[in-house]
Amino acid sequence: MSARILDGKAIANTLRMETAQGVEALFSRTGVRPQLAAVLVGDDAASQVYVRNKEIACEKAGIASRVIRLPASTSLDDLLRLLDELNGDSSVHGILVQLPLPGHLDTQQVLDRISPRKDVDAFSPENVGLLSQGRARFYPCTPHGVLQLLDRCGIEISGKEVVVVGRSEIVGKPLVSMCLQKAGPRGSGNANATVTCCHSQTSDISAVTRRADILFVAIGKPQWLQGEMVKPGAVVVDIGINRLGDRLVGDVDFESVSQVASAITPVPGGVGPLTIAMLLHNTLHAAELSSWQR
Ligand code: NDP
Repeated sequence: MSARILDGKAIANTLRMETAQGVEALFSRTGVRPQLAAVLVGDDAASQVYVRNKEIACEKAGIASRVIRLPASTSLDDLLRLLDELNGDSSVHGILVQLPLPGHLDTQQVLDRISPRKDVDAFSPENVGLLSQGRARFYPCTPHGVLQLLDRCGIEISGKEVVVVGRSEIVGKPLVSMCLQKAGPRGSGNANATVTCCHSQTSDISAVTRRADILFVAIGKPQWLQGEMVKPGAVVVDIGINRLGDRLVGDVDFESVSQVASAITPVPGGVGPLTIAMLLHNTLHAAELSSWQR
């Protein structure tokens, strides 16, 4: 079998176009233009590229963006003070702090300072709690992008055996939570799965992954999932992004898995572009929420 390729880039373009239309509709209705503030501390090269890409994506969607670049020596007090200012600035609708932060800054304490109403990454305890209770304010960007991709490719997860490999706070756990809900971002077919989560302590992990109708992998280990770990006909979503020499590869061995799976996301061009698309979506949503409150 040779798997169908799920084209994340094309779906991300559609999502970005929909957000751009939403931005213009909001602006013509209320005069409000969504604004995203990105805080970048230090000079990590990859972080600079990520923030620049987000800036360009905002511009294309008609979203205003503000990038605040701070030296690596910035103190915790100064960073928290800046976040307080952004929280209180009504022209700013979304705030993100680019990770990783320099070692002397407590990441949790910094992220917890972002107002939950402007927390477009959906990392705050309040937003995680709302998500787990099935009344999300914001869906976290990567899991949301993944579920949008499946639904828009005509793949339902309702009633299916879903296995998520990885239990991080930003990908694995929220993906589990979303798949378990009674309704997803695209309705009931986009939720209601029977979900199992694996991690580094799972024993006989291949026996678990082989049960999956839909298999998500997010562990940060290049080409870890092999064809023999996959049930014939399963849908495989590769969330990993790893640098291998001068190439980007996922957590899935594309060669062997694409011979067994019925559908697979490539790396690059799979899940990656969807994450930024959903960040734009959340920024628009934050601006809509603030305009309803006025
Ligand atoms: P983390 O490092 O935070 O978490 C990794 C998870 O994988 C942990 O739960 C860990 O288990 C588990 N794990 C590690 N090794 C194994 C193994 N051999 N078998 C089973 N489980 C294992 O990673 P992230 O979730 O932040 O990122 C995962 C990948 O996704 C990375 O490649 C990252 O670059 C990518 N990513 C891609 C995004 C995109 O936009 N496409 C966005 C975010 C991340 P334990 O908890 O037991 O330690």
